[in-house]
Amino acid sequence: MASARLGAVIANHTGRLILTTEDPNASPDGDALIAAMAHADLIGERLEGRSDRLGTAPSGAAYCIGASFLRLVSFTGCAVKIATAPDPRSPFCHLRFPPLAPHPRLYAGRNTRPPRCRDCRGRLEDWRERTARWASQPDQGVTCPSCGATRPPWQWDWKEQGGFGRRAILIEEVFPGEAMPTDALLDLLQAASGTGWRHFYVRD
Ligand SMILES: [Zn+2]
Repeated sequence: MASARLGAVIANHTGRLILTTEDPNASPDGDALIAAMAHADLIGERLEGRSDRLGTAPSGAAYCIGASFLRLVSFTGCAVKIATAPDPRSPFCHLRFPPLAPHPRLYAGRNTRPPRCRDCRGRLEDWRERTARWASQPDQGVTCPSCGATRPPWQWDWKEQGGFGRRAILIEEVFPGEAMPTDALLDLLQAASGTGWRHFYVRD
């Protein structure tokens, strides 16, 4: 973590909690989700400009946390300090809402480990070399090097270290495992989208 006193130095990315649909092909309406999140006070004002702190996160709308954020997102550990004031150089908590992806896109980072085959638990060690192709076209068939089973990349077991979705909500910046969606938040998203949601963590 860089010192804020250095001014020009940008702190490392702490991490993000990502919420996406359980079915990575689902494409729920974005306006309905934003309206529901605003109505529940999960999100507050829309952020302009300064939201692209690191320039590596997916583009899209960004929002300050709302008054009920801490009732809808559960933080573990003691003495959690949450900076909420927008700051272009250091971490602050906010939500991002990337545009709907044309097909399930991979959210992964430096915390992501090779996903495991759901049949034999074998690892897909070369997943990073495949991501450029996955980004441009859906891949229905990734064959397990251990047992030969073939399934789309989103049906491998990424644990909570990565995942796929067309529609995602990014909660910046929280350390992986530090925060979890409450049942109330998952219920809210399901009611607004008609589909179930899950979560995982990514660090740039
Ligand atoms: Zn296998």
